[in-house]
Amino acid sequence: MTTVDLPLLPLGRGTDPLSERGVECPGDLPAPSDPDLVARAEAAKAALGDKLFVLGHHYQRDEVIRFADVTGDSFKLARDAAARPQAEYIVFCGVHFMAESADILTGPEQQVILPDLAAGCSMADMARLAQVEAAWEALAEAGVQDKVVPVTYMNSSAAIKAFCGRNGGVVCTSSNAEVALEWAFEQKGPDTKVLFLPDQHLGRNTAVLQLGYDLDDCVVWNPHKPAGGLDAQQLGDARMILWKGHCSVHGRFSADVIDELRAKVPGLKVLVHPECQHEVVLKADEVGSTEYIIKTIDAAPAGSSWAIGTELNLVQRLADRHPDKNIMFLDRNVCYCSTMNRIDLPHFVWALENLVEGRVVNRIEVDEQTEAEALVALQRMLDLPGKSHRD
Ligand code: SF4
Repeated sequence: MTTVDLPLLPLGRGTDPLSERGVECPGDLPAPSDPDLVARAEAAKAALGDKLFVLGHHYQRDEVIRFADVTGDSFKLARDAAARPQAEYIVFCGVHFMAESADILTGPEQQVILPDLAAGCSMADMARLAQVEAAWEALAEAGVQDKVVPVTYMNSSAAIKAFCGRNGGVVCTSSNAEVALEWAFEQKGPDTKVLFLPDQHLGRNTAVLQLGYDLDDCVVWNPHKPAGGLDAQQLGDARMILWKGHCSVHGRFSADVIDELRAKVPGLKVLVHPECQHEVVLKADEVGSTEYIIKTIDAAPAGSSWAIGTELNLVQRLADRHPDKNIMFLDRNVCYCSTMNRIDLPHFVWALENLVEGRVVNRIEVDEQTEAEALVALQRMLDLPGKSHRD
């Protein structure tokens, strides 16, 4: 069974409530050219005081991240919000699935706000609930569903996390994917298979490079083809069923740029995120989450040279913070995450000034049942033994 995907909506126009992208932003935004934007943001933040807690993802623009009370990756930020129960308003400078996770992990009286509702995530959009449910049904028809444990990356909608919660699965981050997969493979005996959502690259890199599976143990489920484009034999033989999703930023890095840079820069170290393609990760010296990337560069010796394969805002900030190190971006072209960049100063000011006026705009609220089921999968992750060495 296949599902027809909705056409891409132009960002910021129209409404697609099932999507991570393309929902309308109501209200009149301040002009980007307004010279008082920084002062307005500072004044609104001061007026809201402890009632407000601003979370800033590492991939956010400088103009926004300067107002964050904490910075981090999506899971760290959701936990930081949960640890701040006195904050009535959590303004999440990040993307939609992150705000959903913060809503799930915070109290019912705390309101999570995403300054621009068009800040979605193309990767999260690649696994919609109807598609995943259809795949689950097809796995039953192929006679393998009772052996499959669904594992979803944090970068997925609350509905997908809830799917994993109600089907014996777990959530993982790029820091703990190895431990989460080890746990999953123990759940249904020696023939257990994992359905990994939505990022095929994180799933493949973790299974092959950290757990020692073979590339032949992995198959790719294409939600746009009948039965995922796989026959019963392929499904029967597979250990990792990788959802055909990817990050539009990390998927761009290519192995030939690594070769080029190594030829030009003696002693170059290549550091990439595990959302990169397998052949890129194979050529890198180090692989890890955004937190791991930051720690590695912070600890690197002066004079060392690094090519980094992650979102450009973060790479630029690392370069600015470490002028004594030679830090470069691992792509020939400029590539920001376009949806992360939707959160700009005009949207931030607009959201905060509305809060000062007592109006909550762009609230992200996960319904009760989805929240309860997603929490089951998140709790399984929190209960995982130990921690990945990449934490
Ligand atoms: S960097 Fe990739 S995974 Fe992260 S929000 Fe952007 S598209 Fe999604």
